[in-house]
Amino acid sequence: MSNISGKETKPEIMVRKYLFSKGFRYRKNDKRYPGKPDIVLPKYKTVIFINGCFWHGHKNCPKSKLPETNYEFWKTKIEANIKRDQENYESLEIQGWKVVVIWQCEINNLKNRNKKLKELSKMLKQRTHNRVAG
Ligand SMILES: [Zn+2]
Repeated sequence: MSNISGKETKPEIMVRKYLFSKGFRYRKNDKRYPGKPDIVLPKYKTVIFINGCFWHGHKNCPKSKLPETNYEFWKTKIEANIKRDQENYESLEIQGWKVVVIWQCEINNLKNRNKKLKELSKMLKQRTHNRVAG
């Protein structure tokens, strides 16, 4: 079976570049964590998954529409992916991580991307603020 999961995809690179330019430091594809998050920000106790809409079954998204050919096959496959994702997110949350999921369709054009990444950066900064007290 071909393995594309370890490959760097463009949306991941865009998000990393943005975070780096804003001064955030991260690790990538850290195998120690469930689901091997695309971006791990230890200082912010936050992990980020950048999910392809089709493979991860983005709900109500036109890009996650299953093909009519072999429909049942795809349905089973994508549902298994969704279930595995949920389990990974839960394990991470139990370990105290904040899990952020970015869907590819949320960052597929400049306008959406700027908005999403601004929100992300704001959220991360708030997390450091809150943690200073502890
Ligand atoms: Zn989507």
